[in-house]
Amino acid sequence: MLAWDAAKRGAADPSDGENVVLHEFAHQLDFENYNTDGAPALATRAEYKTWARVMSSEFEALRIADETGGSTVLDTYGATNPAEFFAVAAEAFFERPRALRAKHPKLYAELVRFFPPGSFPLFHRARDNLA
Ligand SMILES: [Zn+2]
Repeated sequence: MLAWDAAKRGAADPSDGENVVLHEFAHQLDFENYNTDGAPALATRAEYKTWARVMSSEFEALRIADETGGSTVLDTYGATNPAEFFAVAAEAFFERPRALRAKHPKLYAELVRFFPPGSFPLFHRARDNLA
């Protein structure tokens, strides 16, 4: 269930890196393989391996930034657990694409593979407006 007041808030500023619709949508994608663990359904074992390697190291970096108060592109709520990390990373991918690409190129590359141009047109349209 989405809190629609929060949904409207997130939609009001398309570049604040927060969007509850995107966030909950990412959780749904994550659950497509019946596991909310930060790893959505991917096509191949090789993709899972790369995904796991990149996501764990980015998650660890965010946990450290959260503990030390370092500045981050990603909302530190993503340091809660891998599932929240994926949701927060998806928000950043669509709302802060340039900052994410600059600071987290490997994470960005994984998300481009998962959300290729042409997929999820509504989200990509909003994203293109930021470019
Ligand atoms: Zn969440």
